[in-house]
Amino acid sequence: MMFPFRRISKVSLVLARKLLMTTPKPLPTLNEDRQSELVNNLSHWALGNGLTMYPTNFELHNTGYAPVTLFPTPFPRKQFEKALAVQEDFNELYAQVVKNQEWLGPILEDLSQFDKDFTGKLWETYKEAKTIGIVQPVSLGLFRSDYMVDTLSASSFDGVNGKIKQIEFNTVSVSFGGLSPKVAQLHRYLNENGNYHNEGKLHFEDDELPNSESTASLANGLAKAAAYYNSTESTDSSVVLVVVQDNERNVFDQRALEFDLLKRHKVRSIRLRMEDISASTDIDEKTKRVRLRATGEEVSVIYYRSAYAPSDFSNLQNWQTRLDLEVTKAIKCPSVLTQLSGCKKVQQILSTKEAIQQFLPTKNDQELSTLCDTFVKLYPLDNSELGKRAKKLAFEKPEQFVLKPQREGGGNNIYKENIVPFLQSLDEKDWQGYILMELIRPPASKNKIIREGRIYEEDIISELGVFGTLLFNEDSGKILSNEVSGWLLRSKFSSSNEGGVAAGFGCVDSVYLF
Ligand code: ADP
Ligand code: MG
Repeated sequence: MMFPFRRISKVSLVLARKLLMTTPKPLPTLNEDRQSELVNNLSHWALGNGLTMYPTNFELHNTGYAPVTLFPTPFPRKQFEKALAVQEDFNELYAQVVKNQEWLGPILEDLSQFDKDFTGKLWETYKEAKTIGIVQPVSLGLFRSDYMVDTLSASSFDGVNGKIKQIEFNTVSVSFGGLSPKVAQLHRYLNENGNYHNEGKLHFEDDELPNSESTASLANGLAKAAAYYNSTESTDSSVVLVVVQDNERNVFDQRALEFDLLKRHKVRSIRLRMEDISASTDIDEKTKRVRLRATGEEVSVIYYRSAYAPSDFSNLQNWQTRLDLEVTKAIKCPSVLTQLSGCKKVQQILSTKEAIQQFLPTKNDQELSTLCDTFVKLYPLDNSELGKRAKKLAFEKPEQFVLKPQREGGGNNIYKENIVPFLQSLDEKDWQGYILMELIRPPASKNKIIREGRIYEEDIISELGVFGTLLFNEDSGKILSNEVSGWLLRSKFSSSNEGGVAAGFGCVDSVYLF
């Protein structure tokens, strides 16, 4: 009697799962002529509206549109909403982590032994700044929390196609807030223009293609920081200093924020490379105010779109400049400490409910569980019990993991079968500089990527980034402003492990909510 019943229940479970899971409608299939027309419109819209990026091997006079998908990519609506809903709590979590220097300090001190060249140098810079005196406790975070939908967490009971799982929380130089709204607008334009249909009809409903507010919202964050500075320092007007990299390709993404900042808030910005700052600015010895040498204007906010990789500190002078700026009155976006709070080791330590609860004591169990539900398993590779278990896992099941050093900006992680030989090439004590993270398995989607005029047609996987804006006092933990600031979708070939757009692995995309 038991066996037939069991068999039926298994079949019906599979059926129920199919019925309950929401499925997106297929993306448009266009004939050749219609696709060429779409591509023509896409490139005109992108160039006409600044969805642009300097091409690889660029010459400054020769710009092109950013690598982008032809169509928006399906993303489950509930999971999208959830990612936006948890952002303010994540912002707050990091504010509290930065405030709790007695907790964060020893972690960074320890990590510095294993990553001397970068984390170690940043930590030294912070400690020197502290000794000299940090005179501006208020700092600005323009953050981005990145997620993928994890198909392994798909559930047949509640109709979930998979849950969002956090890849990382970025606290420095987050990119694409300026281009993301343009991608959503581009896809919306192509839909409304009839380019997604062989007979020129609409393919998507209006509410299936949301807009990202990231440009305006991140610019608001910079404006709020400038306004706070002006009012507390009794300054009439001030400028934002944007610290940029040499040969930056993603200039127009940054410029979109700067243009909006001036247009809506009347706040000017000036772009300087780290190496040019000491010759172009003066720091008043007494007041610690920063002024531009050329015009005498005061700098209220220092916004780093650089300083996240060792190559941004190619000489000792650059480290000195970072330190000099850290002890000024200007509001840093981010401060060295806020930047350090975003390192992967901190993410690993924060990946349990008990860990985050100590920083968010006023959140109820449900709220904490919602945050934790976005975590996959993260492990240390040290001599703790958990670390020992992780070392075993790394050797026994490397195909389920990614190994991460304390680096930002793409191209640094070690994946799957490369983990074992990599670890073997290191001294075991140096493994502690890395964290081991469970691999998220996102669903593959059909789409087409256009990059510098060439169309690529391969399965893609997508990563949702949610922006957050946080103005807070690092000493008291007091939050002056905390907002969710729009989103970004990036996609890449499912065959590639990494997803950097500017680095050449991926493209910008937008969501079709289903
Ligand atoms: P970085 O600081 O260099 O951006 P990330 O942690 O964001 O490092 O990893 C880079 C890329 O690697 C991500 O954008 C994502 O595509 C991929 N990746 C990272 N962690 C995971 C994971 N746990 N599962 C699947 N892919 C991952
Ligand atoms: Mg990343």
